[in-house]
Amino acid sequence: MDPYTALRRYFGYTSFREGQKELIDAILTGKDAMGVMPTGGGKSLCYQIPVLTLGGMTVVISPLISLMKDQVMALKEANVPAAFLNSSLSFEQTLKVYDYLRQGRYRILYVAPERLDSEEFLSLCRSLPITLLAVDEAHCISEWGNDFRPSYLKIADFVASLPKRPRVAAFTATATERVRGDIITKLSLHDPYCVVTGFDRPNLYFDVRYRRSRQNELLSLIRERKKESGIVYCMTRANVEKITDFLCENGINATRYHAGLSDEERRRNQEDFVYDRKTVMVSTNAFGMGIDKSNVSFVIHYNMPLSLEAYYQEAGRAGRDGAPADCILLYGEADIHMAKLLIDRKGDEEEGDPEELEKQRRFDYARLDKMISYAKTTKCLRGVILDYFGQSHADTCGNCSCCKTTFFEKDITVEAQKILSCVKRIRDRLGYSLGLSMTAQVLAGGEGQRLLSLGLHEIKTYGAMKELSQREIMRLITYLCDRGYLEKNESFQNFSLLPAAEGVLFGGEKVIMLYRKEREKTQKEKKSKNALSLSEFHEAKTENPSLDEKERSLYQKLVSLRTEIASTEHVPAYIVFSNATLIDMAKKRPTDSEAFLEISGVGRIKAMRYGEQFLSLIRKELTDGSH
Ligand code: ADP
Ligand code: MG
Repeated sequence: MDPYTALRRYFGYTSFREGQKELIDAILTGKDAMGVMPTGGGKSLCYQIPVLTLGGMTVVISPLISLMKDQVMALKEANVPAAFLNSSLSFEQTLKVYDYLRQGRYRILYVAPERLDSEEFLSLCRSLPITLLAVDEAHCISEWGNDFRPSYLKIADFVASLPKRPRVAAFTATATERVRGDIITKLSLHDPYCVVTGFDRPNLYFDVRYRRSRQNELLSLIRERKKESGIVYCMTRANVEKITDFLCENGINATRYHAGLSDEERRRNQEDFVYDRKTVMVSTNAFGMGIDKSNVSFVIHYNMPLSLEAYYQEAGRAGRDGAPADCILLYGEADIHMAKLLIDRKGDEEEGDPEELEKQRRFDYARLDKMISYAKTTKCLRGVILDYFGQSHADTCGNCSCCKTTFFEKDITVEAQKILSCVKRIRDRLGYSLGLSMTAQVLAGGEGQRLLSLGLHEIKTYGAMKELSQREIMRLITYLCDRGYLEKNESFQNFSLLPAAEGVLFGGEKVIMLYRKEREKTQKEKKSKNALSLSEFHEAKTENPSLDEKERSLYQKLVSLRTEIASTEHVPAYIVFSNATLIDMAKKRPTDSEAFLEISGVGRIKAMRYGEQFLSLIRKELTDGSH
C-alpha cells in the first residue's frame, strides 16, 4: 500500500503536511531520517505510515507512558495492530504482549527507553522483523535540551545489537542546532535525511497581557472559554496549588499536576483531563510532553517561562488538530525577578566544574532575555518567535495581540529627563541610588519617613512628577530600563544611568513610548454581553471563527454526540474525532457515507464505526432546519 492510500484509509486525511511525505519517502528508500517539526506538526504519521508500506515491524522509543497509551489507542481505532510495553502493564499483560510479538501480531510497538535494559526484551527483538526504529521526542538524548533522559543513550547500542540494522528515524520539536547535532551523533544516524519544517502554527493566536491582578484576569479568561479544554502553566508547585484552589472555589472544573504529587494522583488527574472529565489542567512544566490531547483550545501561562523555546513548546500544546486555539502569556515584572532567581539557584545547587556551570548560567540568562523581549515587544509576536527559530516571516501576522492592538506613540522626553535627572541627583546626594519604588516616591513628592530622613525632599526633582501616581512613574522608570537608558541592579535594587541617558539629558534626544490603547475587545465584550452570553460570544468568535450560526449549532451537537460515544467506548473524545474533524463536518454536512469519507480525519474504519450515528444526526438537523 502506498503512503497516500495509507494516509487516506487509516487516518482519513487527504494530503500530507509539510515534511511528512519527504520523510516517509526517505525512510522507504532505506535511509535514516530526522524530522524537526513543531508540536502538532504531525510527526507520528511519519513513523506510523512507512511500516504499512514496508512490511515488518516498527519499534517506537517514546519517553512517556501516557503518550504511548494514547497513540496505541488511536492506532487501534484506525485498525493498525499496535501495542506498548512499559511499567504500567501488569505482569500478565506484559506476558501477553511478548506472546503476541512472537506470533507477529503487531505492526507497531511502543516502548519506553528503560525497556532496553531488559535482556529478555533484547533477545526477543533479535528475532523480530524490525524494519524501522523510530525515536520520538529525540531531544531527550541531549543534555542541552529540556528533558534529558539518560536511558536514551542506550539506543545506539541497541540498534547495533540487532542482527539486521533497521532504518533509524528521529523526531523532535526542539530546534536548536546543538540538540540536533547531539541527536545525530548519539543515535549514530547514518547520513540521515533531515527535514526541518517551518515552525509557524497559523491556527494559534498569541497574546501577551501585562496584569497586576493576574488571578482575576485568569478567571475571566477561563470563564470566557467555558466548556473548552485548556492548560494553565505555573512556575512553581506552590502556585499550582494556589491557582487550582482558586479556580475550583470559583466554580471552574480544574485539576492539578506537578512532580510533588503521588504517582497515583498524577495519573488520575491527567486521565481526568484527557477524558474531559476536568476541563482545566493547572500544572508546572512537568505536565505536557507526550500529552497528545488534540482538543486543547487554550494554554495560559500564569508565569513567564525561562525561555522562548520552552514557551513555544508548552503553548504549542494548544490546537494540535489544527483548529483555532489561544496561547496567552500573563506576566509581570516579578516574573523576571523570579526567573533570574531560579537560574541562579539552579547553578548553586548543581555540582560540577564551576567554569561549565558559569557557562550554562550565561546561556540560561541569554535565553531568558529572549523570553523577556517577547513579553515586552510591541512587534508581531509570531514574528518574534519565528525570529528565534531563525525563520523568515512577514512583518505582521494579523493573528496575535500585538497585530491586533493599536499602539500610540507618546513623546515622554520631559518625563524621561525628570526621571534620569532625579536618579542622578539622588546618587549625588547619597553616594548611592535607591530602588524603584523609593525613586518613584521622590518624583511623586511623597512624604515617607525614610525619604524625609534622607533629606530627599530637598533635591531639585523632588515632586517633579506630582501629577502622576507612584505606579505610573514606576511604569515609566521600567520603560526607561527596558530601553537601555537606565540599568537596574537586581541584587541591590538600585539604578545607574547608562550612556544613552546623556543624549536625553543634554543632547536634545527624544524618547518615544509606545503604549497600547486599552483592549478594544473589552468594549465589544461588554456590548455583546446583552445579546449573547460571554461564553457563547467567545465560542462564536474564537473556537470556530469561520462557522456561521447554523454550523455552530450543528457543531455543538456533533460535540455532544462525540462525548456520548467516547464515554461508551471508554476512550478520550479526541480519539473518536478531533475538533478540526467536527468543524469540517459541520461545514460540509455530509449525508451519505461517501461524503462522510471526504471529511478530513475520517478514515475507513472510523467511517464504518461511527458513520451512521453522525450521519443520522446531520440528516435530522437538515430536515429540522428546513422546516
Ligand atoms: P506531533 O507529534 O508532531 O506533535 P502529532 O503527530 O501528534 O503531532 O499530530 C498532531 C495532529 O495532527 C494529530 O491530531 C494528527 O492526527 C493530525 N495530523 C497529522 N498529519 C495530518 C495530515 N496530513 N492532515 C491532517 N491532520 C494531520
Ligand atoms: Mg508527537
